[in-house]
Amino acid sequence: MRPTNSWISNLKAASVKKNIKYKQNQKGTENVLEIKNLHARVEGEETEILKGVNLTVNKGEVHAIMGPNGSGKSTLSKVVAGHPAYEVTEGEILFQGEDILELDPDERAQLGIFLAFQYPVEVPGVTNSTLLRQSYNAVAEAQGREELDPLQFDDYVRERLDLVKMKPEFLERSVNAGFSGGEKKRNEIFQMAVLKPKLSFLDETDSGLDIDALKIVSEGINHLAGEDNGIVLVTHYQRLLNYIVPDVVHVMMAGRIVKTGDKELALKLEEQGYDWLESEEKVTGEI
Ligand code: ADP
Ligand code: MG
Repeated sequence: MRPTNSWISNLKAASVKKNIKYKQNQKGTENVLEIKNLHARVEGEETEILKGVNLTVNKGEVHAIMGPNGSGKSTLSKVVAGHPAYEVTEGEILFQGEDILELDPDERAQLGIFLAFQYPVEVPGVTNSTLLRQSYNAVAEAQGREELDPLQFDDYVRERLDLVKMKPEFLERSVNAGFSGGEKKRNEIFQMAVLKPKLSFLDETDSGLDIDALKIVSEGINHLAGEDNGIVLVTHYQRLLNYIVPDVVHVMMAGRIVKTGDKELALKLEEQGYDWLESEEKVTGEI
């Protein structure tokens, strides 16, 4: 599914200057994200896609969410980022201990929530560097950090380019316009490298990458993973997890997280697929 027109990209969302009404977290929680019993559906439709998701990501952790196609992984990622196509019908999403459900996507982006799209969006006519600088500065302003002028930003952004081994020419091209599939995915990680989010959902960032690009992207993500942030890798395949070792692996099926384990779980899924989970569910009635 491609994002709707009203939703351009969370980078674009981050660039909107607006006073955030969000209270900075006072509780000193170690959770970067806490999702409780989350139910969501496409706005205006009856059928739920997310049917009670629970997920806690602490600072410094890398989580992987795996699961068959259509299980709701992208929906979960987009609901956390505040995509307007979806409606939350029940449950909570706490970011650093505060409820964000009432916040717009731009407000969430400015707090430090980042989504790398499964299908990155093209923004013709707006260069990567312009959009990145506006986004960076809007986030910096919202978080009380110093904004960068074009020259300062240029120095900063070039240093970040190295992280994903992208050529400087990419800065002056329209966002994702005419980029190959792999370049778009790398550009998403480049945006993450520039914005340094506190919580990142990377939706199938590995799909469509050849092995060299996969290594570059993985190294970039490993470099960006830190004590202060949480990363959620949404992936259909185990191969990304050969390069980025997750602390926690979850399996999502039919709109719920049905199993949680460590990296061994990803290897078991690679070997045995998802069927054993379905039969386990039939035997026990729950997973
Ligand atoms: P995954 O990322 O795990 O493959 P998705 O979250 O993309 O799964 O989709 C879960 C289910 O919800 C699918 O059946 C999909 O068709 C449906 N869905 C997701 N978004 C929309 C939408 N905007 N409109 C209609 N159906 C949707
Ligand atoms: Mg998906």
